[in-house]
Amino acid sequence: MTRYSIFRLGREALRGHRGWPAAWRDPEPKASYDVVIVGGGGHGLATAYYLAKNHGIRNVAVVEKGWLGGGNTGRNTTIVRSNYLLEPNAHFYEWSLKLWEGLSADLNYNVMFSQRGALNLAHSDAQLDAYARRGNAMRLNGIDAELLDRRQVEEFVPLLDTSDRARFPIHGGLLQPRGGTARHDAVAWGFARAADRLGIDIIQNCEVTGIRREGNRAIGVETSRGHIGAGRIGMAVAGHTSHVAGLAGLRLPIESHVLQAIVTEPVKPLIDTVVTYGAGHFYVSQSDKGGLVMGGDLDGYNSYAQRGNLPIIEDVAQAAVELFPCTGRLRMLRHWGGVMDMTMDGSPIIARTPVDGLYVNGGWCYGGFKATPGSGWVFAHTIAHDRPHALNEAFSLERFEAGATIDEKGAGPIPGAH
Ligand code: FAD
Repeated sequence: MTRYSIFRLGREALRGHRGWPAAWRDPEPKASYDVVIVGGGGHGLATAYYLAKNHGIRNVAVVEKGWLGGGNTGRNTTIVRSNYLLEPNAHFYEWSLKLWEGLSADLNYNVMFSQRGALNLAHSDAQLDAYARRGNAMRLNGIDAELLDRRQVEEFVPLLDTSDRARFPIHGGLLQPRGGTARHDAVAWGFARAADRLGIDIIQNCEVTGIRREGNRAIGVETSRGHIGAGRIGMAVAGHTSHVAGLAGLRLPIESHVLQAIVTEPVKPLIDTVVTYGAGHFYVSQSDKGGLVMGGDLDGYNSYAQRGNLPIIEDVAQAAVELFPCTGRLRMLRHWGGVMDMTMDGSPIIARTPVDGLYVNGGWCYGGFKATPGSGWVFAHTIAHDRPHALNEAFSLERFEAGATIDEKGAGPIPGAH
């Protein structure tokens, strides 16, 4: 930090932080844009940024019904990894991970990407075999993977209960050393600032309430701030994908469910990696502020509620104490929920739709945060060229009727999912 910025920080602290310049503009919507992106989460903002940066398309608006990052981008548990078995997922998420590795420099914004490793625990020999298979597939795809035995797990995460007395004794684990975490809000803010500087209009408090069509072509959006014309429209609205697509008359193979997370009071460094349980749906990492960030299972019914409930707290706390007995006395600080867009095969949809000029980015299930830069990259390509990038060709809508689903059960919607 320079002397000037230390001085400025002190001055702003004394003045109640009222003098900082806004990081992005707050423009009035124009009558029309070449591209309108619906949804100001990480995916929508990344798409706008790459539309401008990679394709020179700058007459773009991102319209967000609330505030930037107020959806799942600001509600997730920030795990980033590319430890997938199936080729389409492996290549796509690995590209995303590569973008993460250079993201702070690219955006000139510290997204606090920390490659502290992501470890999936195995609790039986059969599970370890399945991890060996996934690890081998990852390595064949050029992705880092290490199979650990129980002793190596113990060395890597000393506070884990690796004894035979554990409810589900640990047999080993699959480690992706380049996996880790990032600061979720910073990702939205970094993309927003960078997109704004390339001329993108970011319009908050602007809900899309309708999609105007002329024949089979989408030509604009109705919003709470009036009609906005659009040459092309990209939907990146996560848990609301089926609702917004419904505005254009589309029915998607997506269901919305609540996923919850918990953070404990801050404590000194305890866990310096990401650990996922293999005998239930639980995972944990420690934030830079010291809180243990933990997540559990989906609610088993459809819902748009962004709040948590007691049964999940109980499940998560049980698993936490089972794996890390030392967490038994920790107090829970906060608990929240986000609306997840679940596809039927656990893999995303990034594609053209049957309506001309309308594109969908959704179905992220448990794991779309790590996809943020990669998703923006390929969605921008798809919108700019009206055809998919090689990396999202398989993530089409047609795969569900053609039987070409990408069922990623190894690292998809069950243990090790985040
Ligand atoms: P969002 O950030 O939800 O953005 C969509 C935006 O669209 C929202 O801001 C919303 O307000 C806006 N919107 C909706 N409807 C309209 C409308 N009609 N008009 C205008 N705007 C609209 N992923 C991981 O990779 N790792 C994890 O560890 C992880 N953990 C998670 C834990 C929890 C508890 C949750 C809830 C999710 C987790 N995820 C994780 C998933 C991840 O958060 C999401 O897949 C990802 O953030 C989706 O990003 P997005 O930009 O598509 O969505």
